[in-house]
Parts: sequence; structure tokens; C-alpha cells
Amino acid sequence: MADALVCKTILKSEALQQYIYDVSAKGREHKLLKEIREATFKRYRWQAIMAVSPDQGLFLSILLKLMNAKKTLEIGVFTGYSLLTTALALPDDGKIIAVDPKREAYEIGLPFIREAGVAHKINYIESEAFPVLDELLKNGEQFDFVFVDADKPNYKKYHEKLLKLVKLGGAIAYDNTLWFGTVADKEEDDLVETTYWKGFTESKHAIMDLNSSLASDPRIEVSQISIGDGVTLCRRIV
Ligand code: SAH
Ligand code: CA
Repeated sequence: MADALVCKTILKSEALQQYIYDVSAKGREHKLLKEIREATFKRYRWQAIMAVSPDQGLFLSILLKLMNAKKTLEIGVFTGYSLLTTALALPDDGKIIAVDPKREAYEIGLPFIREAGVAHKINYIESEAFPVLDELLKNGEQFDFVFVDADKPNYKKYHEKLLKLVKLGGAIAYDNTLWFGTVADKEEDDLVETTYWKGFTESKHAIMDLNSSLASDPRIEVSQISIGDGVTLCRRIV
């Protein structure tokens, strides 16, 4: 595994993930994104798998530019890998509202975000998502793009609010929708649940429920993308 490329890949092999990184992503990952990734690994070790992978970051960046996104919302910031990716992709007058109740992790990434010269695009709000979403709704805010990468059991409830917050033709991306590949497992992985990650199984079921409900939601177009840990892209159509 390359330095700090922490990934429990959903691909056929770790070698394949490594290949994608070495051939397509390594040379194009912004220097400061690489530095955030390394600082995240140093501080959080295996929890660094929560951040988007370098190849997924490149995908998000292209998507934001293709969409001409100017105003975005991010739920779940952690140390800021996806946030810095977004901030680098938006135009200089772009705006991002980023919400996370744990500022401590954001502090790890903030020096790199400042160094990248994009901090002025970011409005970081230290909070649980729901009160912020309600406030944004009250103020009639509209976003081009929303990246959701937070507490999985609440994704479905976020979706109802986000459909009002994202503009018609805009997009919502839900991260980790293949949940390390376990969505297709017949049996539960009790070892992960009991040894490493309390709530792993609850999140898995919340994701499975979300996936089914997005698939049959007539208000959106949907594409399940098998990149990183799976990202589901939804385009609001009504
Ligand atoms: N998007 C980040 C990774 C986010 S990890 C990246 O790619 O680098 C998930 C984050 O969700 C954690 O930082 C956690 O604090 C946050 N989170 C958990 N519950 C939340 C909630 N209710 N509202 C907003 N953020 C939440
Ligand atoms: Ca994630």
C-alpha cells in the first residue's frame, strides 16, 4: 500500500486499487490533498478510510467542474479531504457550507486548506447537520451540489430535506453506499462490529435501505458508482 493510501477496497484486489492510484491518481492528486491524507493517517490511522480516496477525489473534482458548480453543501467533513477537493474545484467566488459536529478533526486539515488559498470559499459550521439544514431551508438557500458523507442512519432523512435544498437539475452525492462491499454479503460481519466499529451493522442496513429507496425515487435520476467505497449520484428532476 502506498504511504497513507488507506483503503479497504471494494475492487477485486488491493493490487487493482493500488494500480488505479499509481497509474491514474498519484500524479494528479494536489500536493496539499496528499498532505491532508498523510496527516489524517498519522492522526487517525485506520479511521482514515472514512475520507474519499484519491481517485474518487479526482472524480468529484471533474464532476463539480462539468456542472459548473458554484455553491455546494457538505455534510461530514472529518479532516477535510473532500472539502479541500471541492474548494479547489470551485471558481474563486464559489461558496461551500461544510457541516460537522467534530471540529477537532477539521483542525488537522485546516492548515493545508489555508495554504491552498481556498479557505475563503468555506463556511465551516460546527454542528450536527439537522439544525443547519432546517436553517438553510428557512432561508430559502439553494445549492448546485451536496456531498453527504456523515452518519449513515440519517441519510434517508437528509434526503428529504436535501431535495428541497438542491436546485432543479442539481446533484446530491451519497458516499459509502457500497459499505466496504458488505451490502451484498449474506451474513453479518460480527467481528468488525464487536472489534473495530460499533454501529457498523446498523450503518450497513441504513445504507441498504437508502439504496433501495433511492433506486425507486421518481424525483431523481440515480447512478450507483463503484468508486472508492461506492458513491450514489442523484440528479434532482422535479
Ligand atoms: N467527507 C470526509 C469524511 C467524512 S467522515 C472526507 O472525505 O474527507 C464522516 C464525518 O461525519 C465525521 O467527521 C463525523 O464527525 C461526521 N458526522 C457524524 N455525524 C454527523 C452529523 N449528525 N452531522 C454532520 N456530520 C456528522
Ligand atoms: Ca466517506
